[in-house]
Amino acid sequence: MKYALVTGGSRGIGRAVCLNLAEMGYKILINFQSNIQEAEKTLELIREKGGDGELMQFNVSQKEEVEGVLGSWIEKNPDKVIEVLVNNAGIRKDNLLMWMSEEEWHGVLDISLNGFFYITRLVVKGMLVNKYGRIVNVVSLSGIKGMPGQTNYSASKAAIIGATKALAQEVGRRGVTVNAVAPGFIVTDMTKDINEKEFKSLIPLARFGTAEEVSNVVSFLASDKASYITGEVISVNGGLYT
Ligand code: NAP
Repeated sequence: MKYALVTGGSRGIGRAVCLNLAEMGYKILINFQSNIQEAEKTLELIREKGGDGELMQFNVSQKEEVEGVLGSWIEKNPDKVIEVLVNNAGIRKDNLLMWMSEEEWHGVLDISLNGFFYITRLVVKGMLVNKYGRIVNVVSLSGIKGMPGQTNYSASKAAIIGATKALAQEVGRRGVTVNAVAPGFIVTDMTKDINEKEFKSLIPLARFGTAEEVSNVVSFLASDKASYITGEVISVNGGLYT
């Protein structure tokens, strides 16, 4: 039984990733922090498409929760293999650095970066034993070029890009690939306070992207077809960065 674990699978990009991976035949472990209704909706949408999965509630930034919930699942299900891990859970807490509180700094770093660490080190073990695995980290344009007002967020995403490249070199020999996808402005709850009309003139494709446009790239990297790509960061930003 082959599983894909998607952190932050209850909404936005994570939900679209869950649906794509379910179409590829994976059973989906839908992680979320608190929004059980939206997580159930993701599962319902997966089932409508003929797939299946399980909800898995834990806060990715809390080591005890990650080990308690995900660690126990892995221990209790030796016959089940997590072949795909998508580290997608993330938040924004924007502020200028001079005004930034410790809560804003640590809140973003703890979820993006520590979450990546706690989860990936648990899941990669099984991938190494099976000599197959796909890890895809959802980062951001902000982690490549830096965005004012987002030193916390840019730092966390840039750190994951570094970790992606390092881990890719650790595990490549065992058939495990590690890549990152860097979205630009995507229409989800995370960007609902950003006015598309104001920003779209900066984007060569003249609009914000959709969660599906990101999940199509994530699911390609999570597939067999991406077998010779590792340590890469693929931008999905409508041409904004270049
Ligand atoms: P979103 O719509 O706000 O959804 C965030 C998801 O992350 C939800 O499923 C949420 O769970 C989950 N989450 C948040 N904190 C968590 C925690 N501590 N533990 C477990 N789950 C947690 O965000 P999105 O726009 O889809 O973003 C997904 C990823 O793409 C993030 O890493 C984000 O940084 C990145 N990204 C987004 C954009 C964009 O324009 N939207 C651009 C670049 C990068 P609950 O539903 O339970 O709250």
